[in-house]
Amino acid sequence: VSEERAQRLAAAVAERELDALLVTDLVNLRYLTGFAGTNGLAVIGAGADGARVFVTDFRYVERAADEVQGFEQHRGGRDLFDSVGQALPAERPLRLGFDDAHLPVRRHRELGAALGDDIELAPAGGMVEDLRRVKDPGELKRIRAAAALADDAFNAMLERGLAGRTERAVALDLEDEMRHRGAVAPSFPSIVAGGPHGALPHAEPRDVEIEAATLVVIDFGALVDGYCSDCTRTVATGELDAEAAEVYALVQRAQQAGLDAVRAGPSGREVDAAAREVIEEAGHGEEFGHGLGHGVGLEVHEAPRLAKSDDSALEAGNVVTVEPGVYLSGRFGVRIEDLVVVTEDGTEVLSSLDKGLITV
Ligand code: ZN
Ligand code: ZN
Repeated sequence: VSEERAQRLAAAVAERELDALLVTDLVNLRYLTGFAGTNGLAVIGAGADGARVFVTDFRYVERAADEVQGFEQHRGGRDLFDSVGQALPAERPLRLGFDDAHLPVRRHRELGAALGDDIELAPAGGMVEDLRRVKDPGELKRIRAAAALADDAFNAMLERGLAGRTERAVALDLEDEMRHRGAVAPSFPSIVAGGPHGALPHAEPRDVEIEAATLVVIDFGALVDGYCSDCTRTVATGELDAEAAEVYALVQRAQQAGLDAVRAGPSGREVDAAAREVIEEAGHGEEFGHGLGHGVGLEVHEAPRLAKSDDSALEAGNVVTVEPGVYLSGRFGVRIEDLVVVTEDGTEVLSSLDKGLITV
């Protein structure tokens, strides 16, 4: 797998008129080489015959020998930048792309000093992220497994009820259930937010008991075998007033409109608009203040985005969330989120949990 990814990246490196690309971000490095340790870098020379060099320090040499395939492996010092020069193709001058989206300014300066004047550092962030947009079958299998595991954990947690437990206790319960089922960790800190607290899209669980007859937003995901899932359900803890029930039904309609719009072809902006329209027509446009969704893979937020800012077309193999919300400040919030694979002829929804209002 890593050989194939390196080939695709090397072609892109040539197209960008770089002689080589330096990959330092650990998530990109894992995608490209299979290395799951925490200190390493790779150099990809331009074109099919370009260099494929992986460098790590002595702590990870054995691990790299196990995990990394298709790369010549070097052992560097603790600061791997001191070894980049030896990993590069010999020609000088040399134009080396680096990840300007992730490399701190100070590290960039240190890299420049280590390499000297006949190597030009060219900003080239996002090249590996572009490859990561389209998932291969092995990645889809892992994301499906993460989503299924998180759903099971959610159901097990919900059997113990919500009202009377604190938000934090519910979040811990949910995360324990994930770990018991084999998740490495939650893919992000779980959100459990009852009543007015649910009106904050990024609420942190509090030591506050969840009340009866209110809405609780629960946003959660599992990290399984390097890959993330992401799902939200809003659950009632008893009979709701008419407005809360109405807003729930509205968000459910908008979520379905979003799901119906997801397929290969339209842009993230267009899919976002399909769901947003439903909420705007109901007069709640101002209370849906975030994008409709985001890509999910090795990271829980990655490309593509379903948002006004993303004009790129969806392609088969993209994995995105569809998560409209309406947040009424001081009262309650509703968000419903599914994880969806864009397929050749439509979509595969990975979230299996009921979307009709669940009351516990
Ligand atoms: Zn989420
Ligand atoms: Zn999300």
